[in-house]
Amino acid sequence: MRYKTHLATTLAITLPVMDSAQALTMSGVALLAVGAVFPDIDEPNSYIGRRLKGVSGGVKGLFGHRGLTHSLVGLIAISYLFYIIAQWLSFPVELIQWFSLGYLAHLIEDSFSKKGIAWLQPFSKKSFQSGFKIIYYSTGGLAEQVIFFVSLVAILYHLTQLRLDDLSFVYLNRLAHNLF
Ligand SMILES: [Zn+2]
Repeated sequence: MRYKTHLATTLAITLPVMDSAQALTMSGVALLAVGAVFPDIDEPNSYIGRRLKGVSGGVKGLFGHRGLTHSLVGLIAISYLFYIIAQWLSFPVELIQWFSLGYLAHLIEDSFSKKGIAWLQPFSKKSFQSGFKIIYYSTGGLAEQVIFFVSLVAILYHLTQLRLDDLSFVYLNRLAHNLF
């Protein structure tokens, strides 16, 4: 799945969750977006891989594409690393949950690809395809394009449903971040 589809699908699913948890903030959405593209750091040609070429080359060399970064162990280990970094930078650590949610959404989305992912690495290399090989997409294929456009429509619909106080909350949050 391309990074745009990961972003669109993840936001389409999680914006309503963040909204109903009254946690819709710019920093939360930004971390969610980072989480949604982060696992592909194991592929130097991916969106994030091109931005962190040295790192992604190393990760791919060590674990391979859809290796450890595409597993539950990867999700927990990298979330913990971000948590430690946030603590070290005195960044609000509770926001890291949105990074983890974006990361988890990426893994679920990849698990619907034709090959699926091996959730239990490094303990098992067995791949699991969430659509039981009936529902799947191929990267860049027609099904992925349909998923992308449906997700965009869902995001736009959700934006029209936001209450005014949500929007002002987002705005105030941004203002606060600029001020401090
Ligand atoms: Zn991926």
